[in-house]
Amino acid sequence: MPRRLASKCLYGEEEDLGNADCYHAISYPIFQTAMFAHTECGQEEPYDYTRLNNPTRSKVEKVVCALENGYDAIAFSSGMAAIAALMEWFRPGDHILSGCDLYGGTIRLFRRINEKNGLVFDYLDTSAEEIDSYITPDTKAVYLETPTNPMMKVTDIRKVADKAHKYGIKVIVDNTFLSPYFQNPLDLGADVVIHSGTKYLCGHNDTIGGFLVSGSRETAEDMRELFKVTGSALAPFDSWLILRGIKTLSVRMERAQENAKKIVNWLVQNQKVKKVFYPGIENDPGYEIARKQARGFGCMITFEVESAELALTVLNSVKFIHFAESLGGVETLVTYPMTQTHAEVPKEEREKNGITDKIIRMSVGIEDAEDILEDLEQAFEQYEKKGSQ
Ligand SMILES: *Cc1c(COP(=O)(O)O)cnc(C)c1O
Repeated sequence: MPRRLASKCLYGEEEDLGNADCYHAISYPIFQTAMFAHTECGQEEPYDYTRLNNPTRSKVEKVVCALENGYDAIAFSSGMAAIAALMEWFRPGDHILSGCDLYGGTIRLFRRINEKNGLVFDYLDTSAEEIDSYITPDTKAVYLETPTNPMMKVTDIRKVADKAHKYGIKVIVDNTFLSPYFQNPLDLGADVVIHSGTKYLCGHNDTIGGFLVSGSRETAEDMRELFKVTGSALAPFDSWLILRGIKTLSVRMERAQENAKKIVNWLVQNQKVKKVFYPGIENDPGYEIARKQARGFGCMITFEVESAELALTVLNSVKFIHFAESLGGVETLVTYPMTQTHAEVPKEEREKNGITDKIIRMSVGIEDAEDILEDLEQAFEQYEKKGSQ
């Protein structure tokens, strides 16, 4: 019997809820060991060497795999380690169609390492542009985020996948922003799903991890090979932290989204906020697609204020909200993409994507929404005070 989403967060699809292999431990143990002895020469053992596999890591991989309805999931030491290993799937001359509004670290990897090693990229707005005219005989993959970081643009995953697959092109989706609780790209035709496990899966801003989830056996075999060869495996303790974090994924996502809606309502009514980028707003260009392909609009909000000075004042004046990079944890964070997450994206490109000095990104946490709003109010008031001096 297929398990339902909130239950999968605790148990994945495992038959053995009691962890009979570990004295029925309710909290799965941390197997802090680098290797496992062989019982006999030539005898295949389930575990061998922790870079390849480890029971605690296998446990978190099974849960993430179940949540994404995948064939296999692999846990890496960071989101970037997962993406860097994945890009080794390609060879010099291969052409990748990439979204233009992506996590800054991903763009940095593509530009500094993958381009240097001979991969060829075209960057396009997959939410608005058709991929057809970019496809060449060398095109091997489409790489996208939806909603994008930080401009919250929504791409129709099924539409892209249907087109790409006609040409034998793979579709890779970084699903970090919505988490598997709200969106499952493999069900919409994607071939590989990426997660920065550091964000919603872990959920507590206390460890770093990453995942590649494959939709088919063939892809899974390729990913396992890349993982084994490149070697950035998630450590047993960090596997356990993420395993524990995922147990509360459903309640965290629901609560943070509820808070996000309240904050969006406050922001759209604020005269000093010029634009709010959140696919849950009915006149947002991504609203209909987001409603169709995801179970929620998420807990990330980007907004544009009337001046750079106001943006800086807000960032410098928040007291309850943290001014910090990253996202997806229980604590509410605000980020300045221009100088933080997207500092290394060339200025022209950044501005073309709308990332200006007036843009603030917010990762909404699970605090009482009133406290978040009160803090925002006082931060905006600091700007008024400055103006009247
Ligand atoms: C943070 C992030 C990454 C990178 O993950 P790390 O765990 O920081 O290495 C990749 N993609 C997105 C969308 C992210 O937010």
